[in-house]
Amino acid sequence: MTNAIGVNDRVSLVMSLRKKGIGNVEILRAMELVPREYFTHPAFRDQAYYDIALPIDCGQTISQPYIVAYMSEALAVDNAQKILEIGTGSGYQTAVLSHLGRRIFTIETYRELHAAAQQKFDELELDNIVTRVGDGFEGWREQAPFDRIIVTAAAPEIPPPLLEQLALGGRLVMPVGDMRGNQKITIVERTNKGFEREQVLPVRFVPLVRTHEDSA
Ligand code: SAH
Repeated sequence: MTNAIGVNDRVSLVMSLRKKGIGNVEILRAMELVPREYFTHPAFRDQAYYDIALPIDCGQTISQPYIVAYMSEALAVDNAQKILEIGTGSGYQTAVLSHLGRRIFTIETYRELHAAAQQKFDELELDNIVTRVGDGFEGWREQAPFDRIIVTAAAPEIPPPLLEQLALGGRLVMPVGDMRGNQKITIVERTNKGFEREQVLPVRFVPLVRTHEDSA
């Protein structure tokens, strides 16, 4: 890691997120605490604090900081909550959530990405994160219910097991839509009347894929 990248860049990033409308101070603080240059691919480290998505291994991406902040805000997390994340990827979103929630359970389909993310959580001593290789379509039955569920890959529908694993009063945030770019961040609240949905921001995410042989 070069000395040229670090805390000053994080402060500038946080200021730009505020300008773009992220108002929650807890989220801004969490974004300031996480060194994004740890999670980017070494070849893109000099762009770690640009507010853009960047390629990581296995043909996947590290999400744009604004989207990470936006989804974290939409999730309305507090430090008493148990959170499920589908799509660990680089681990950047997970690291932000680790400063907001009580415990984060995160699932990744690619073994290689899972191992790299786990190593980063160890190095940064983020010890409230539990990782697993698995198929996010199925959720994490043994640990359910979850107060919050965040999915960082898109699908045309919300996988039914995830809705089942959401606690009463819980909230799920996920990009829902097709792969031609018609996706919207969707917020679901589970109330005693059922599931209430709201579509908010148009986005473009990589697809949630069915777990295949060579990823496990
Ligand atoms: N939040 C991540 C975004 C990663 S991109 C970050 O900021 O880095 C989405 C991730 O979802 C990819 O790593 C992809 O491999 C993973 N993924 C796709 N389908 C999945 C599935 N069925 N189960 C678990 N993870 C999946």
